[in-house]
Amino acid sequence: MRIGQGYDSHRFTEGRKLIIGGVEIPHNMGLKGHSDADVLCHAITDALIGAMGEGDIGHHFPDTDETWKDASSIDLLSKIVTLMNQKGLALSWIDSTIITEKPKIAPYINAMKESISKAGIPADIINIKAKTNEKMGFIGRGEGVAAQAVCLLSKK
Ligand code: MG
Repeated sequence: MRIGQGYDSHRFTEGRKLIIGGVEIPHNMGLKGHSDADVLCHAITDALIGAMGEGDIGHHFPDTDETWKDASSIDLLSKIVTLMNQKGLALSWIDSTIITEKPKIAPYINAMKESISKAGIPADIINIKAKTNEKMGFIGRGEGVAAQAVCLLSKK
């Protein structure tokens, strides 16, 4: 068994779509980043990379590489799922948390699972939770969004 842990955060900015878990969520701001800045997909991707012992997301998809400019993070996640399969590892579970004051995330969780399933992770082995930060810190001030994920891999 291998466990992996991932954390990510992105700053809110105007003029960008808000994409979380591969779902476009109506909001007056989006997240700043080199790719689509999908904070949940990045945390999950880093959890998988961690469990494989393959470094981190920045090593696989450098933000200096134009290939990944405005890239869909579902596609990045899909590439890491492919690597996991090539290494003979099977994913048994992902648990994750999105932390933001606004907008409300709960109505989009099922759509996120459906979207993440397109990266090769079945919707019935992922749990997504949503929280606020009780108005504390950068999240509490509405400056950005954070996400955390853990995963469990085993040899096939
Ligand atoms: Mg990120």
